[in-house]
Amino acid sequence: MVRMVCFDMDGTLANLYNVPDWEKKLNMGDFTPYLDAEPMFNMSHLAQLTKTLIESNIEVRIISWSAMHATTTQTKIVKMVKKAWLEKYGFNYTNLHVVKYGTTKSKVIRKYLSENETAILVDDNEKILNGWNVGAAIKPEEIFELEKYICGKP
Ligand SMILES: [Mg+2]
Repeated sequence: MVRMVCFDMDGTLANLYNVPDWEKKLNMGDFTPYLDAEPMFNMSHLAQLTKTLIESNIEVRIISWSAMHATTTQTKIVKMVKKAWLEKYGFNYTNLHVVKYGTTKSKVIRKYLSENETAILVDDNEKILNGWNVGAAIKPEEIFELEKYICGKP
């Protein structure tokens, strides 16, 4: 049974890599690129999708890495900025996890899953998709085909 759908942010929901000087800015502790990033999708379509998921009792979690060299304090700021972005674009979710850069994503949510429950991940990073071992892992291009994974597979 699918308990939750987890979304990555950078390169999946938010087009961070298209923001001029994003990397330079993040390395300098300027986290505005997270707020300036344009959405990757029509956010009202996505809002409808996540609303449907939540109404079906499927948790919608965001699992996003913090900036590469961020300290714990900086990660708290990154979380606030990412939260502001999600609010700005009306993205419905149940939990936001902003974790240290490089964290194995399945480890973040495994504790919330019972034995017969799975979690779907949507992420643009191939390596992260391959490392996901608690359910289906899909690319952002398939975001609107989520239902197929929820209804089709246990
Ligand atoms: Mg990403």
